[in-house]
Amino acid sequence: MSDRCPCLSGDTFGQCCEPYLAGRAHPPTAERLMRSRYTAFARGDATYLLASWHPSTRPASLELDPGIRWLSLEIVGRSGGGLLDTEGEVEFTARYRVTEADGTGRRGTQHERSRFGRDGGRWSYVGEA
Ligand SMILES: [Zn+2]
Repeated sequence: MSDRCPCLSGDTFGQCCEPYLAGRAHPPTAERLMRSRYTAFARGDATYLLASWHPSTRPASLELDPGIRWLSLEIVGRSGGGLLDTEGEVEFTARYRVTEADGTGRRGTQHERSRFGRDGGRWSYVGEA
């Protein structure tokens, strides 16, 4: 809880994404939701990833690759997604390290522009823009 949050906001996990992952609060902006979903990937929390996925695009289940370790998140752009918006996009670069079945490792980058929507006061992930 007192460790640095995986989303690299600069806050501790307990003061950043943990209340969202625990379901005690909902992210107020699309970027905060995006950060909390990155943290869920970093912690292997498939339940939160599904819960924060818009019902119209949510998969029935989600298998997270245990060989992937998420290293860092950088927000590179955003539009909308604010306190008064109902739609928003967040562009990010996430870096990871994957360990293959033969034990070799390699690093990779995921770059995505994600689309978010807000229904009933709650932001959710819609898909790639
Ligand atoms: Zn965080």
